[in-house]
Amino acid sequence: APLIRIRSLSKAYRRAGQAIPVLLDIHLDVMAGEFVALMGPSGSGKSTLLNLIAGIDQPSSGTIEIGGVDIATLSEGELADWRAANVGFIFQFYNLLPVLTAFENVELPLLLTSLSARERGERVDAVLDMVGLTDRADHYPNELSGGQQQRVAIARALVTDPALIVADEPTGDLDRTTGGEVLALMDALVRDLGKTIVMVTHDPKAAARAQRMVHLEKGVLVDEVTE
Ligand code: ADP
Ligand code: ADP
Repeated sequence: APLIRIRSLSKAYRRAGQAIPVLLDIHLDVMAGEFVALMGPSGSGKSTLLNLIAGIDQPSSGTIEIGGVDIATLSEGELADWRAANVGFIFQFYNLLPVLTAFENVELPLLLTSLSARERGERVDAVLDMVGLTDRADHYPNELSGGQQQRVAIARALVTDPALIVADEPTGDLDRTTGGEVLALMDALVRDLGKTIVMVTHDPKAAARAQRMVHLEKGVLVDEVTE
């Protein structure tokens, strides 16, 4: 069964009393363990679709089943709990807190769980090791390169062990070499850990690393390319 099953999904924003359609009748399945790139011109609705899949926003109509749960039917509180347990986030500009060390940034999502400080520490150490930053655990974000900051963000996304990882332009602020390293790491999350990744990108080189590309054009899924 697919991890993500989207049917008849539409989203409109209200502006000056008018409904502005942004996504129109989207149907999409993503299998568990797939790495999908979401592409399309600026304004085509990529971020909106990603935010709906991640449970940050709610659709105007349609269903978004993730792991068998239709998240479109959850209340705001239920959605927040669902998100914390099921989704890891990777952003273009890393979104690390500047006053916390790499270790503390990665630990943050675990402070909402019932894990002990010792258990949290073990998990943080394990994911920092996975992204190759054990020796940077006590550094603050401004003491790290862009690529290192993005790897800290990936460790933070992984630390709660979510099935689904969403990434919005994860290489958008990185040079080609560093971006390639981040993509290789995301690839490893899929291959070695069985994670499912949905990634928004403008960069064809980044999209080529995914197993599948999905294109949006003015709010409509226009085609699919499977490698
Ligand atoms: P990108 O093209 O990289 O997705 P945008 O600048 O289009 O970035 O949008 C960034 C975010 O700003 C969107 O995801 C949305 O939440 C918000 N946004 C975009 N356009 C509008 C708008 N017209 N009114 C209110 N918020 C908007
Ligand atoms: P993309 O990520 O493909 O650039 P977005 O999903 O950010 O596209 O935006 C799609 C369209 O929705 C744009 O026209 C944008 O202005 C509009 N939009 C996005 N967020 C909002 C919002 N919060 N309020 C109103 N319009 C929005």
